[in-house]
Amino acid sequence: MQRRQFLATAPLVGAAATLGGLAPSLARAASHSGGGSAQVPAYQRFAVGDMTVTCLGDGSLHIGPDSLIGIEADAYTELMRAQFRDPETYPTSVNAFAIQRGDETILVDAGTADAMGPGLGRLPRSLEAAGIDPASVTRLLATHLHPDHVAGALSGQDAMFPNAELVVSETDRAFWSDEGNFSGAPEMMQNFANLARSVLSAYSDRLVTFSGEEDIGSGITSMPLPGHTPGHSGYMLSSGDDSLLIWADIVHVPPVQFARPDVAIGFDVDPEQAVETRQRTMDMVATDRLQVAGSHIGFPGVVNVEAAEDGYRMIPAVYHYDV
Ligand SMILES: [Zn+2]
Repeated sequence: MQRRQFLATAPLVGAAATLGGLAPSLARAASHSGGGSAQVPAYQRFAVGDMTVTCLGDGSLHIGPDSLIGIEADAYTELMRAQFRDPETYPTSVNAFAIQRGDETILVDAGTADAMGPGLGRLPRSLEAAGIDPASVTRLLATHLHPDHVAGALSGQDAMFPNAELVVSETDRAFWSDEGNFSGAPEMMQNFANLARSVLSAYSDRLVTFSGEEDIGSGITSMPLPGHTPGHSGYMLSSGDDSLLIWADIVHVPPVQFARPDVAIGFDVDPEQAVETRQRTMDMVATDRLQVAGSHIGFPGVVNVEAAEDGYRMIPAVYHYDV
């Protein structure tokens, strides 16, 4: 299927009213997790060699079977129940990660701000609680230019992180910048593209792009994970004998997609490629026993992955009582 064709026909979540001009049914669903009072700000630290990684919570939203591709509602419910999860309310986490090493404070993704409903947009208070001043961020690494990853990079139309370079895959920059990719696309995709362009514009004087797998300094290497977006990228952190792969959006609904990596999401620009990338990446991290951090794995989002009878299974990282 041609990308353009997909954009015009994708079963993107709902199509009713909009909230902030973005993802309508996601915005409705977010109220499931935004109804109560928030927990204490979500941050958690651990070491990767001489780096300090801080997991930062932005909140959560519910992603129902109507947003997924390749699974019926009954099978979705069955997988959720098999893992003791409520299929009506299961909260998909939105996480960002800070990496501190020497003088550098690097942020991987920036949360949703007010783009996607009341259960999200909590990254600023998580950063504050973690003692990370937005002005101290030296580089903002975007895994891709979707709003749940970069809307929080803006304060109005300006940069939220006034001293940070924005680092992003050249492929994603080019894709979202080309208006021709979105002619005739659903309104939500147009809104996604507009947001991506606003972010690129706010950081245009300090925009750094990379291509494919590239050493981007500070012990970090980009890893192309195409499909969800054309330039969707993970970041591999290596220090001494330690490593961590921040794999971004390899999964959106963990109770479903670890067991069924063949299930895609309506936001995938190329769902078939996203499935291939997910299967290849899960196989790699399971074989290499590599610890991963996911944007949408339950907070703090750090797990190991092992092959299971059906698909894969995640094992949450140990809690670090001291850092
Ligand atoms: Zn995402």
